[in-house]
Amino acid sequence: MKNFDYIRPASISDAIDAAAEPGAAYLAAGTNLLDLMKGGVTRPDRLVDITRLPGLDRIEWLPDGGVRIGAMVRNADLAHDVDFARGFPAVAEALLSGASAQLRNAATVGGNLLQRTRCAYFYDTASACNKREPGTGCDARDGENRLHAVLGWSEGCIATHPSDFCVPLVALDSVAEIEGRSGKREIALEALHRLPGDTPERESVLEPGDLIVALRLPAEARGFSAHARYLKVRERTSYAFAVASAAAALRIEQGVIRDARLALGGVAAKPWRARAAEQYLAGRQGDAVSFFHAAEAALADARPSGNNGFKIELARRIIVRALTLAAAGTPARLPALPASHFSSVSGALHVA
Ligand code: SF4
Repeated sequence: MKNFDYIRPASISDAIDAAAEPGAAYLAAGTNLLDLMKGGVTRPDRLVDITRLPGLDRIEWLPDGGVRIGAMVRNADLAHDVDFARGFPAVAEALLSGASAQLRNAATVGGNLLQRTRCAYFYDTASACNKREPGTGCDARDGENRLHAVLGWSEGCIATHPSDFCVPLVALDSVAEIEGRSGKREIALEALHRLPGDTPERESVLEPGDLIVALRLPAEARGFSAHARYLKVRERTSYAFAVASAAAALRIEQGVIRDARLALGGVAAKPWRARAAEQYLAGRQGDAVSFFHAAEAALADARPSGNNGFKIELARRIIVRALTLAAAGTPARLPALPASHFSSVSGALHVA
């Protein structure tokens, strides 16, 4: 284990000053970072512990009907907030489909956004990895890559972003509030993560010292609450990252789709908004033919990055199924196995 400084700032401005130094990293729950440090994958010189900063652990309802979620709110607390789950059911379903109950109790929403890829070569320090060590190559290209990207990948990196939570957030136009050395600013969540290009080590548009302090979901996102689902296919239903997933949200009037939101997970280095599919669906009947063509549009640019061509067809089918489930209506209770294609049976989780 490498020695590092540990700092517990009293204010956000102190935290930003401390984290702006080269080699510094923010520490929240540490559910990903500490694993990376133990494995020697990341070796920060300084940890800036933000768990005691005041005001970051609140869920606040805004006057216009939107919601502001502090970055230190725990995943489980947000998912089990009844008002939140009613207003944004696909987000709650995605949260409950991620990780394990123990991890959801500890993990924070801010940390969820910035978790690292689960590419096995990234975690194996004996492997070549351009993301971990720029310029060394990518052992995933000729290795075990069936779970890697089919959209937006580059010759330098074919890793995927692992978050479930981010997928409906991107579909529903959520915004990240950021504080940094140059003050406060906001970024649409869709623009937070970067595609790999020639610099896969740069995963977001954040600058040194930038701290995500909150997320906002706009009031308009609640307009989809009657027809919103998150569907995830994984290799082990109890606990695994997505092979591919989809968040689908529809606003339906008299049988016609007035507005559609669709985003994919597990297919790219960022949550993937499927705008061409959304545009196709607007004004159409919510039927199998429309959903099939929407899925075709969403995957039009997909190409295998290795032995993973199956993911393209899988993602198409997940989209059709997610849209079908959304059109049928958000269940009064979330399924007993959230986001699982194995269960349409409602459980007793939290929405009365
Ligand atoms: Fe590293 Fe990306 Fe290649 Fe995985 S896919 S080994 S993270 S460069």
